Formats: sequence, structure tokens, C-alpha cells
Amino acid sequence: MAGWSWQSGDVHARFTSRDHGNIGLHVGDDAEQVAARRADIAAAAGLTTAAVAGVTQVHGADVWLDLGAGTSVAADVQWGSAPSPIEADALVTTRAGIGLAVGVADCMPIAVAWGSAHAAIHAGWRSLEAGILERTFDVLRRAAGPSVAFAGVEPRAVIGPCLGACCFEVGEEVAERFATSSIVRRDGAPRPFLDARAEARRRLAELGCEVDDIEVCTSDSRDCFSHRGDVGATGRQALVVWRVDA
Ligand SMILES: [Zn+2]
Repeated sequence: MAGWSWQSGDVHARFTSRDHGNIGLHVGDDAEQVAARRADIAAAAGLTTAAVAGVTQVHGADVWLDLGAGTSVAADVQWGSAPSPIEADALVTTRAGIGLAVGVADCMPIAVAWGSAHAAIHAGWRSLEAGILERTFDVLRRAAGPSVAFAGVEPRAVIGPCLGACCFEVGEEVAERFATSSIVRRDGAPRPFLDARAEARRRLAELGCEVDDIEVCTSDSRDCFSHRGDVGATGRQALVVWRVDA
């Protein structure tokens, strides 16, 4: 399956490309076709959609923690044809064999592996500013517990395709919310550009996390759906993160 893959220990992540079709439910697409594409992506990870959790993303900083048992996730978060009533922008589980999914166009999809816990994060600029990364790491640390506290296991993350600083023009009112090192000003450009990747890398480094970066700009790459590149009407690609039993 095309797209981009990443692995840290037993944790795997897959970022899908435009080839896989739209996986978002709120973009005017047929829900059953979306569900079929989600099932294909899950199957490529060796999972069923009953074992993949997805929530309704709202550009906030809430984290959904999986408290289930067994081999599937609760019906209200199953990654199928119906939108989840649960609103959050990050998901965390400690269960092997459970996938976590987010949908993105230009926002950053981030996967994290830390001991027995893994996370999927949907990080737009609002969520970044609201502390989604820090809050996810709080939940990860508590969820992973002894597997990281006493074992000296460090977290590792990967940033997937997202809107690059090359294309992420913002207003001054947005730029002023971020570290100056995350803002790019170009000669002749009236407005600044946000380097969301740099902002995420800086915050993740402060959390003690090693970071890998796919370094693909969704607006420039024809392999990606992009709000900016497609001028509004576009689909979503997926990030799915899962851990296999060692
Ligand atoms: Zn770009």
C-alpha cells in the first residue's frame, strides 16, 4: 500500500496518500464508500475497523483514552460509516492490536510510541497552541506507567505530511501566538508563514521525545489532499497507528 510508513519498536504508523481515496465523513462523500476505504486501510495494517478507534476532531486539546478490553473498541468510536459522538483531537491506548486513526488534509498527523502506549494526534495550529501535544504526553505517561517509568524507555514520534512553512501563510494575529523560531518571514511577502512542523518539533523535544519527520508538504505534493492546495473542497487522508504483540 502506497503512502508513508514508520515504525518504532512494535509500534507501526501508516500515512495514506490521495490514492487511497477520501477517509473523511464530513466532506460530502458517500459514507459507505468512506467506510469501505477505512476497512481497506485497517486490513493493510492487519486490523478490522472494529479494532480501530476514530473520534470527531474539533481542533481542541482533548485526549481520548481507550479504557476497553478485548480485541475491539467501543461501538461509539469504531472507525466505520458513522461519525463518533466523542470529540477529541488525540487518541491513546495501551492495547496491542488496537489501531488509532485520525483524518487530515493540511493539519499535522503525529504518531507517538512510548513503552506500552501509543497515540495518534490531529494537530492544527489551534490544537498546538492549546497544548494538545503536552496533554497527550500527560495521558501517555500515565497510561504507559511502569513500562516507561522504570524501564527508561524514551518516547518517539513521527510527523506526517502536512502544510509546510512554504505554504502556511497566516495573519499576524496567528503568528504572535507562536515562538518566533516557528515563524518565517519572506522578503516581499506581506504576511508571515507558520512553520507548524518546527513548532511541533520544539514542543516534542521539550517533552523528551525523539522526532522523525516525513517532510512532505500537503499543498505541494499531488499525493496528498490539501485544503489550501485544492482550495477548500478536498478529502482527508488517514494516519493509523497500532502496536503488534511482541
Ligand atoms: Zn508547501
